[in-house]
Amino acid sequence: MVIAGPAAAALDSLDPSQREFIQSLPKAELHAHLNGCLPLSLLQDMASQYISDAAQTKIVEEGIAKLQKGIILDEIHDFFGLFPAIYALTSNTTNMRRATRAVLGQFLDGTKPWCSYLELRSTPRQTEEMTRKEYLHAVLDEVEQYPSHKAAFIVSLDRRMGVEELKECVDLACSLKSEGRRVVGIDLCGDPRAGDMKILEEYLDMAKTAGLLITLHIAETAENSYEETKQLLSYQPNRLGHATFLDDEAKTLVRESKMCIEICLSSNILCKTVPRLEDHHIRYYIQHDHPVVICTDDTLPFRTSLEGEYALLLALPPLGLGLTEVERPDLLPSFLSLMNSAVVSGLHARAGPVPESVIVFDVLTVIAFIILILSVTVARLSGIQRVKTWYLLQLSSAFCCLSFLFLVGHQTGPEPPLQFCAFSAALIYAAPPMVAAAALCFVIELYLRLSSALYSKKISDILVDRITWSIPMIHGWAI
Ligand SMILES: [Zn+2]
Repeated sequence: MVIAGPAAAALDSLDPSQREFIQSLPKAELHAHLNGCLPLSLLQDMASQYISDAAQTKIVEEGIAKLQKGIILDEIHDFFGLFPAIYALTSNTTNMRRATRAVLGQFLDGTKPWCSYLELRSTPRQTEEMTRKEYLHAVLDEVEQYPSHKAAFIVSLDRRMGVEELKECVDLACSLKSEGRRVVGIDLCGDPRAGDMKILEEYLDMAKTAGLLITLHIAETAENSYEETKQLLSYQPNRLGHATFLDDEAKTLVRESKMCIEICLSSNILCKTVPRLEDHHIRYYIQHDHPVVICTDDTLPFRTSLEGEYALLLALPPLGLGLTEVERPDLLPSFLSLMNSAVVSGLHARAGPVPESVIVFDVLTVIAFIILILSVTVARLSGIQRVKTWYLLQLSSAFCCLSFLFLVGHQTGPEPPLQFCAFSAALIYAAPPMVAAAALCFVIELYLRLSSALYSKKISDILVDRITWSIPMIHGWAI
């Protein structure tokens, strides 16, 4: 990946210890567009094998040449003209898989990965060679090669989409999520001048009901009206992309709702939506302790990396924001804690809505656990004589309840760490046979003692102990 422009200048101005500091930070990339982050070398390779009609070939050649030279955008709208070449090269599932693999590798592989967690986003495209469903399957197959704490996918909706396309994309995202595929959210992106934002409500509601989280590109340009911004905020998104031109009322709402802002510094500067870094709205959110997360947006046209974006924070003005040197001395630590909180509020880390049945199950389990522990405590303290197997049955039942209670808060996501999962699963599988064995012990002892009382036969305690304790032993041995 060639780093150039503002990110390269900021990186070059840092001393080795500052670069080491950036590399050592735990970073999450939460705003990266798949087709905008392809490595140029991959595109060149795909272009060399590209066979099409003369007009299409010309588009591809011109697009690659522009990207190779380094683009100069006069305004944000020029940016969208770069994509026909990329789209022509990634119009089938084979190339989409290659492209996704390369982008994931760029962010997550190597001895110095760019980040420890990546949420990649893309608009499912329909071409002559693939359907939207095939597009999503191809991308998800590659994303799922990484563990869920490293990579996830957001389905983007293009602002130009009509109701039929919106419905198709959201339906696909919801059904993939219900099948357990790694779709974590819905994004709204595309040309900021396009589309009617009022038609989104129904589809964003569908996504939320399915447990998907929402992130919206919002107020990217001065042309985006305040009415439109208000409309988008009324959908209560979880995160906002750019949020460059928010008025005071919108800013207050965003702060009160703690919507995390995805900040893409190079993208804003190169698309000229922010004239200079010192004017960037990130300052406002830092000053108000609001969660932000640093992202790259599109590494290919903006020729940046995640390290480059962080360098823009540390580099001295005019190359960067000079956060450690220029602002207050404690700004960087507080900024880092903000970034961590942003990661926590990432789509990956949010739990989906908890169904009522799960809540009822949890409440009943807690009640059962309390009753079981109370009955054992009362029996012990009151001096009432109980047989040992009764205690065994009560305590193993309490243990069974406890094994399920470990899962509270994780039943609808986020996925807990692997060690926790393994421990919890072992308990859940072990508890029912333990309770069954304890119940059998209790019934046998009860039978023996009742028989001895009814027929006045003396029964040895040692025999009872041997019979009852042998059941779990045999059970364990058999397993
Ligand atoms: Zn974006």
